[in-house]
Amino acid sequence: MSIIVTKFGGTSLATSERVRAAAERLVAYHNEGKQVVAVVSAMGAATDELLALAKSVNPSPPARELDMLLATGEQVSMSVVAMAVEALGVPAMSLTGRQAGILTSKAHNKATISELKCDRVQKALDGGHIVIVAGFQGTTLEGELTTLGRGGSDTSAVALAAALAADVCEIYSDVDGIYTCDPRVVPRAHKLDEVSYEEMLELAAAGSGVLQMRAIEFARNFKVKLHCRSAFSSANGTLVKEETMEQAVVSGIAFDKSEAKVTIRNVPDALGIAGELFGAIATANINVDMIVQNISEHGHTDISFTVPIGDLTKIKTVLDGLLDKLGIREYVVDDTIAKVSIVGAGMKSNPGIAAKMFTVLAKNGVNISMISTSAIRISVVIDEPSVESAVLALHTAFGLDADEVFEETQLSDEELAAKAKKGR
Ligand code: ASP
Ligand code: MG
Repeated sequence: MSIIVTKFGGTSLATSERVRAAAERLVAYHNEGKQVVAVVSAMGAATDELLALAKSVNPSPPARELDMLLATGEQVSMSVVAMAVEALGVPAMSLTGRQAGILTSKAHNKATISELKCDRVQKALDGGHIVIVAGFQGTTLEGELTTLGRGGSDTSAVALAAALAADVCEIYSDVDGIYTCDPRVVPRAHKLDEVSYEEMLELAAAGSGVLQMRAIEFARNFKVKLHCRSAFSSANGTLVKEETMEQAVVSGIAFDKSEAKVTIRNVPDALGIAGELFGAIATANINVDMIVQNISEHGHTDISFTVPIGDLTKIKTVLDGLLDKLGIREYVVDDTIAKVSIVGAGMKSNPGIAAKMFTVLAKNGVNISMISTSAIRISVVIDEPSVESAVLALHTAFGLDADEVFEETQLSDEELAAKAKKGR
């Protein structure tokens, strides 16, 4: 029998009407003769609210207790959705991460899934139930409750789809698919019918926050076909899969304003310094993105790199501790930068894409301060105020502009309400 795994995000479960709409969709699939699993996120902004509650009693809540608290959000959703399904006359069974056999590492708040033992899910499906699984949570072998990091129910869903060998994993949210760029910034952005795992991974890493990175990695590794679509319409969304029909030179443009640039001046150009520097940064658990080292002059060089703005306090502590040891005289932090990336599988076989990108930016008066590339991505760091003109110009230059302008009026009332709620 064919199995479908669906995942409902917080906004698609924010009210009882939306929960009922989700239940109707599940029942419709069930009536088509499919075995149906739904992985659910916490309703609306429940996770944020629980997080705020935790911080109101303890500014740095213990990781274990935070997991115990945050996991309750998904448990509310799973039981409510199961009840809504039952109200439509179809048997439903909700399962916690542990009951669904989702085993994870021990890292509270950012656990990774290590194994899935889904015989209980399969048994419930074989017994004719629609199975509702709490996303975002799992258990260690020792029985400790863990969560998978923000946005983690995407990963729960993809992992379950892989383990159950589902035909497809449908990701329902308040956006109707993957766009060539954020339509709020580029009104001529258009929805992609399909995109490859590799492109999706690059787009997510470059700041387009539609799916949790780990979920895409999982999907790629286990070849789970993803369908990202809107919970508020029946239109097709975007398929994320291995091979796409067409290898576009550029399929999407992403930008990220959440990073800051750190430049260390006059680092002695000696063997082992970079290793020591970035070793210390890694030990402090700070993720470095781009790194540029200048040509050295008189035995000294400048090193620039980008880190999440949220880690700036940590990075300052690390660097202050290294000043004497590494003979560093000065470092400067700039948090008004942004990263703009173009991504496309067709780049592999088309030379000159970087040159074109840089020329377009220059023509639009956008200065580039850092560059990094992968086989299918080119990223540049620019000044934050230039982001809008940069992405608009690139979107046009690489032929991504739709004939029609994306207008909020194309959205249903529900989509608009959801967007307003998300503060878009
Ligand atoms: N509820 C969790 C969060 O808000 C997990 C998820 O939505 O995927 O991050
Ligand atoms: Mg989410």
